Amino acid sequence: MFCYGLALTKLLDCKIMATPHMNSPATLIIGAGISGLSCAQTLQNAGHDCLILDKARGPGGRISSKRTEQGAVDLGAQYFTARDAGFRAQVEQWITDQAVATWHPKIAVVDASGWVPSPDEQARYVGTPKMGSLAHHLAKSLRIQPQSQVTAVMANHVILSDGRMLDFERLVIACPADQAQQLLPDLAVPIQAPCWALWVDIEGEQPFDAAFVKDSSIGWVAKDSSKPGRNTQNRWVVHPTPEFSQEHLEEDPAQVSAQLLMELQQILPNDCQINQNGIHRWRYARPWPKDESNRVSFLQPSTHIWVCGDYCLGGRVEGAWLSGRQAAQSILAS
Ligand SMILES: Cc1cc2nc3c(=O)[nH]c(=O)nc-3n(C[C@H](O)[C@H](O)[C@H](O)COP(=O)(O)OP(=O)(O)OC[C@H]3O[C@@H](n4cnc5c(N)ncnc54)[C@H](O)[C@@H]3O)c2cc1C
Repeated sequence: MFCYGLALTKLLDCKIMATPHMNSPATLIIGAGISGLSCAQTLQNAGHDCLILDKARGPGGRISSKRTEQGAVDLGAQYFTARDAGFRAQVEQWITDQAVATWHPKIAVVDASGWVPSPDEQARYVGTPKMGSLAHHLAKSLRIQPQSQVTAVMANHVILSDGRMLDFERLVIACPADQAQQLLPDLAVPIQAPCWALWVDIEGEQPFDAAFVKDSSIGWVAKDSSKPGRNTQNRWVVHPTPEFSQEHLEEDPAQVSAQLLMELQQILPNDCQINQNGIHRWRYARPWPKDESNRVSFLQPSTHIWVCGDYCLGGRVEGAWLSGRQAAQSILAS
């Protein structure tokens, strides 16, 4: 059942006008990123009723792609890896469903002395035709209510930014760490680093499709158009280091963009012309500094509240998916 979208919103709006208390599912999930979607899918597969609320217009969170006039671009997660056997099996299914494909970039390591091919042979996966397609694929069978920002969590109900209230028997908070903490102030979570994300259209071939960059404000560059299924030709994405993003977080985007463009020209080995560009700021991008020693899968601050997300298991797509699934398994066992 594809309830995500206008039909459900209208249905709920009708109820809301009659009463600010809305009919509630057995489990309410805040966040339609990979962790919330994986949690909902595991619950639903076990026949358990659940509803996801998300403040955004669509699902995906940090794997969402940005639409531009020249085509979509992946500004958040660039690719994902699959180390866990259960996640690998899930990725195989997504490949069969044509929601995901393997990306085979020519990867380089760039530093002050130049560039060398990276010896790294990691299998890398991307949503097709854009990263966000994976979230839309998962959302197809789930009940999601978009544009619903939760502003407070009370004993047995949540309050939304427009004043609506929704009861829950069980609640899952599947938001980035800082946003989860805004809802549950006593929650101990790691700090999230911000990340500026620049996209550019570049004329001129380069000897690599993506690079890990050292000795620069830039940490990662990738030719988005080299990913499978993309309809752009020369689209690149640039991510600066967490240190740069933190230091320039509140600066004028045009200034940040200008500085990154200058550094990009120094990194790319071949002469090129940059035609289009734009910039996006992720305030809560990745846990920082990275600490993978304290893995907990999910948190359970009370008998009826679960907290999951990428930061519980390493700050990546795979960790988010596993965290959501394990929170759901705990709910099913409770
Ligand atoms: C720039 C960048 C690059 C990255 N690169 C990679 C990479 O290459 N490989 C990789 O594996 N991972 C990468 N990641 C990390 C990856 O994107 C995340 O680990 C993963 O997508 C997190 O999923 P999540 O469900 O935990 O959180 P999110 O995707 O952040 O989902 C949380 C959802 O909660 C919603 N929400 C928040 N607060 C509220 C509220 N109060 N009410 C309602 N809804 C709310 C948000 O709108 C969002 O949709 C990157 C992330 C960024 C930002």
